[in-house]
Amino acid sequence: MLYEKAGDAVRCLLCARRCIIAEGKLGTCGVRENMGGTLRTLVYGKAASCAVDPIEKKPLYHFHPGTKALSISTVGCNFRCRFCDNWSISQPERISGEPLSPGEIVSLAKRSGCRSISYTYTEPTIFFEYAYDTARLARKDGIFNTFVTNGYMTPDAVEAISPYLDAATVDFKGSGDQSFYRTFCGVPDANPVFEALLEMKRRKIFIEVTNLIVPGGGDLKPPFLKLADWIRDELGAETPYHLLRFFPSYLCSDARQLPPKRMEEFWSMARGEGLRHVYLGNMPGGDFENTICPSCGSIAIERCGFEVISTNLNWNACSRCGRALNIVV
Ligand code: SF4
Repeated sequence: MLYEKAGDAVRCLLCARRCIIAEGKLGTCGVRENMGGTLRTLVYGKAASCAVDPIEKKPLYHFHPGTKALSISTVGCNFRCRFCDNWSISQPERISGEPLSPGEIVSLAKRSGCRSISYTYTEPTIFFEYAYDTARLARKDGIFNTFVTNGYMTPDAVEAISPYLDAATVDFKGSGDQSFYRTFCGVPDANPVFEALLEMKRRKIFIEVTNLIVPGGGDLKPPFLKLADWIRDELGAETPYHLLRFFPSYLCSDARQLPPKRMEEFWSMARGEGLRHVYLGNMPGGDFENTICPSCGSIAIERCGFEVISTNLNWNACSRCGRALNIVV
């Protein structure tokens, strides 16, 4: 899906890299090949991971909270993050995966009591056709579809999946700072992520945003404030915003971690910029993973780690004061 001829080569239009791929060659993601002038996916039906997760793990805190999501991925990615948690499947030496058809994924979701299927762990854009076919079948069975994505999608890709995509977690790293993306993620330009988010909003896909705060360049205050302001002004102050604490991993396994107090300072800065639902992730057990009603201050959803402990909701609003909380139930 989504490619065009470019002389003797083809140009992929799925992600913002828009790779021009010569005959017999692969795109940057390593899983799309030009075979005789046809761009083919090499990972269709090859599941690299398949697990039942709490939807809070995506993280999606405001989309059917407390439900289960069947989570699937293939190998490959269009980013080269030096700190990737899932590097063994995102940067594989070869294509691998267990055969699993879209129909089997939907059956598995139903048998496991999942309300949704999440396309996650690696970047769903690079296994687009697999996700698309699964999402279409899931929709027919009343199962929701969510992407956990770096957002480096073309507006065309957002448009194509939008009839079947209910929600997305869009992951920033280092607050979307250009030089951080170049140095740490091997990505030339972060702007397509912002464009994809606007397209998702236009297409009424429910959005939550994460920001991985990476020490040593991805923890700078000016880009942090700039991103918080952009989310408030363009996506809305009610957008759930997750600040994720970095864990040393992959090529950054010797990096230090930010102390919890520093993460709390970032939390305060985001709240200070007017964002109403700010959470700290990868810091289980604190007060920063609860949904607090911005009007009356009562706990609307209490969480511990990925578990919902209690809810005090009247449909999608605070049960105490009635304020709407931008929650899909
Ligand atoms: S999906 Fe893969 S082949 Fe297509 S533009 Fe992105 S990196 Fe290139």
